[in-house]
Amino acid sequence: MLSRKEVPIVAQSPETDWVSRFADEVIAEADRRAPGKPIVCASGLSPSGPIHLGNLREVMTPHLVADEIRRRGRECVHIISWDDYDRFRKVPNGVDPSWSEHIGKPLTSVPAPAGSEYGSWAEHFKAPMIAALAELGIEFHGISQTEQYTAGAYREQVLFAMRERGAIDAILDRYRTKDKPAGKKQQQKPLDEAEVEAAAGSGAADEDDGTGGAGYYPYKPYCSVCDKDLTTVTSYDDETTELSYTCACGHSETVKLSEHNRGKLVWKVDWPMRWAYEGVIFEPSGVDHSSPGSSFVVGGQIVREVFGGEQPIGPMYAFVGISGMAKMSSSAGGVPTPSDALEIMEAPLVRWLYARRRPNQSFKVAFDQEIQRTYDEWDALERKIADGSVQAADAAAYSRATRTAAGELPRTPHPLPYRTLASVVDITTGHDEQTLRILRDLDPANPVTSLDETRPRLDRAQAWITTHVPADQRTRVRTEPDREILGSLPAADRAALDLLVGGLDDHWSLDGLTTLVYAVPKLQAGLDADAKPTPELKVAQRSFFALLYQLLVGRDTGPRLPTLLLAVGADRVRTLLGAV
Ligand SMILES: [Zn+2]
Repeated sequence: MLSRKEVPIVAQSPETDWVSRFADEVIAEADRRAPGKPIVCASGLSPSGPIHLGNLREVMTPHLVADEIRRRGRECVHIISWDDYDRFRKVPNGVDPSWSEHIGKPLTSVPAPAGSEYGSWAEHFKAPMIAALAELGIEFHGISQTEQYTAGAYREQVLFAMRERGAIDAILDRYRTKDKPAGKKQQQKPLDEAEVEAAAGSGAADEDDGTGGAGYYPYKPYCSVCDKDLTTVTSYDDETTELSYTCACGHSETVKLSEHNRGKLVWKVDWPMRWAYEGVIFEPSGVDHSSPGSSFVVGGQIVREVFGGEQPIGPMYAFVGISGMAKMSSSAGGVPTPSDALEIMEAPLVRWLYARRRPNQSFKVAFDQEIQRTYDEWDALERKIADGSVQAADAAAYSRATRTAAGELPRTPHPLPYRTLASVVDITTGHDEQTLRILRDLDPANPVTSLDETRPRLDRAQAWITTHVPADQRTRVRTEPDREILGSLPAADRAALDLLVGGLDDHWSLDGLTTLVYAVPKLQAGLDADAKPTPELKVAQRSFFALLYQLLVGRDTGPRLPTLLLAVGADRVRTLLGAV
């Protein structure tokens, strides 16, 4: 059907797209900061709950930049830092309220929600994201902060931050009187509202910055008895590294920080510490981080003034909204995740949604009827690629969507229009034999010979129809002719139906039936089949189409008529239109 030309990596021209421009900037900065070393791009994800499509921008933005750097032949590591040593903050809606007993423990120490196959809360929410990232072709190096802290990987940095606590406190103090800053960066929410609040699962804006009654300490131990962070550091000795804390559970003890591995730096210190530790050159964060006092701004000062490192290039990314999805099922209880999107869209399409918009532009991911338009745009882009009429920036976005430096993503060999596939599986309710018959008839010049060549797009369309289209919008072909309507038809309508029925066999393809359904009202008006439509003709066409929908599916509207006719089958069309 579509022959796909090899897309040159047009993105190498600096003006081409935002990804390329960031890659230029990142490479120049890496050459200045750490010449000869692999370039480090980073993302941070908190598995405190379902990791949704807004969070995917946290990963996709550095992924695309890292991939462009690799395409240019440079070594680049994309770190995904799993912030799984963060505290469990609150029990999301839909989870057994008794989980509140775990609030304050590290996410890796909280049991997974009931029925999960995973060993901890963090693993339960990481696993589907990891699977989605693999399907999306995103190559990354995952770092568990639980593993890092409990292995003592940041020992020197922790001791150093404690020694420099006065300097850190002074930096934080510059902002303490200002407006309440944004919290942890990955807690961004998609545009739509209420349920999201619950699922995002975290009020990180209230992040404890380490201030306590007994002075400022940037390190917070998890209690050795109750495993929660309801602890207060009461004293610290720089010489011996002896740290004393009390816990809300009543426990108190003194530990040697030079040996202690059960605690972490507070977020505003932890993040810049890791910029310096990993040598991060590029790491974006959500738009809510542009405010003074946000952890990105404060982190910039801490990394420079305390850790002697540099802040990454860090564009702010805008929100990702969702349309549709409202009452439909979701693994995330209303907040769609990348896995939910991949159920109904192919991976290149998901990549494209993120690649074609600059990070500071918000966009919506459609789970409702709009998904069909998104797919139409995608197919139109493929046609422009094929005929060479594509704009450079659009070609770049397409290239980033369909391949990575490691190779092409899997694609559907015979990609039929998504809206057609959706209509067909809607009508056949997924019956394979029937679906194949209809798909074969769509385009006799280039027939589908097996359903496999229309997959995975067919499966995505089917998943969309069955999980996101409400029952009252599904198509139900009438089983019996509507004798009441047929019995009272004006002669002109009867004649129009007969014209249509008479032309079915000669027009049995998507294109043929399209011509036929538009031609019937023209012929009836005494015009040629290829006459230009007039306003009167359009009215006549609309009422003819409405009659057909009533007779075929008992409603005023439905899937596009040519698709519907093909799907219903010629014999049944004849019956329902009262021609036999
Ligand atoms: Zn305790």
